[in-house]
Amino acid sequence: MDGPRHDGPPHDGPPHDGPRHDVPEADALTRPYWEAAARGRLLIRRCASCGRAHHYPREFCPHCWSEEVSWEEASGRAVLYTWSTVHHNDLPPFTGRVPYVAAVVDLAEGPRMMTELVDCPADAVRAGMPLEPAFRDGVPVFRPAPGGGEPGPGALSSTAR
Ligand SMILES: [Zn+2]
Repeated sequence: MDGPRHDGPPHDGPPHDGPRHDVPEADALTRPYWEAAARGRLLIRRCASCGRAHHYPREFCPHCWSEEVSWEEASGRAVLYTWSTVHHNDLPPFTGRVPYVAAVVDLAEGPRMMTELVDCPADAVRAGMPLEPAFRDGVPVFRPAPGGGEPGPGALSSTAR
């Protein structure tokens, strides 16, 4: 019998039906994360031993090595830490998506997360801008939070009596 194909065009499927490099393959550990993302919810891991949250999901706490880590839903509040506008990427599906903004965001719970910034003009990107999660094809990305830069509802309610 023939082994894996190493030459010739694929005989079925659309021409760009290759591996997606933006969607990690779910395993037993990360499956709850991706299932939640598909429902529009962002999960993080919280350590019961030291109380700190982390991301990406790990079997043990990266801060204290405890294995008492479990899932919790993130608030979704985040701020932009840093970013880079990507103009060239040969890996599908990014090829058809450039330019896009690769971003690192700080979640309110503490973890720093690599993601993508969407729905934001390039000249409006600011470090520290408030963001909220969006979900594209079941993958968490972030966009500017409504009223970003203005005092949020929390700030207003603290003065309203
Ligand atoms: Zn810990």
